Amino acid sequence: MANGDNEDNAATLLWELHEYIQERRISGPEGHSYISSAPRGTVAHPGLPYDSATDDYVRASVQEVVEHTRSVNPDAGLPPRVQDTYAWMREHTEHAPEEDQFRSEVIAYRQSLEHAIRIGDDKVVRPHRCPKCRTFGLMWMAAASKAVCTNTDCSNREGLSSRFTLARLAHEHVTARKKLRNVSAT
Ligand SMILES: [Zn+2]
Repeated sequence: MANGDNEDNAATLLWELHEYIQERRISGPEGHSYISSAPRGTVAHPGLPYDSATDDYVRASVQEVVEHTRSVNPDAGLPPRVQDTYAWMREHTEHAPEEDQFRSEVIAYRQSLEHAIRIGDDKVVRPHRCPKCRTFGLMWMAAASKAVCTNTDCSNREGLSSRFTLARLAHEHVTARKKLRNVSAT
């Protein structure tokens, strides 16, 4: 799979969340700069509850990408639009050392999982193998914010079902994809 597929998926989901917030408010003069810490705009539809948690979530997602990108490339500036966030990161880290590019891929992939779960699609964890027993059967456990392995033989030191963060799943996924790329390149 090309990097772009991931990135497009993450960008589409982030855009959906962003649009969802926009329906609930009209931006003030500074409102279009999604990354700025300017005061939030006035409410567009007083009847609709303003969803500050989702707003904060989108800001934090973009902010993480911006911080990573600038740590690699201090002159990167800011993504022009929220839906450009991941393409912008790739563009500004493409000449960076391999480990920085790897981290970019992991962030984009992890965020695509986070966005899907935020929107309500927690089935996105299922196509991943359990990092420990390598079988399929991961389920999302919202209360713990972890993916839990449903293989009864697979447990952690406390004797509970093995559980994994999305960061771990993303790291495994990007590592496997990278190996595939290296194989097909030789
Ligand atoms: Zn397992």
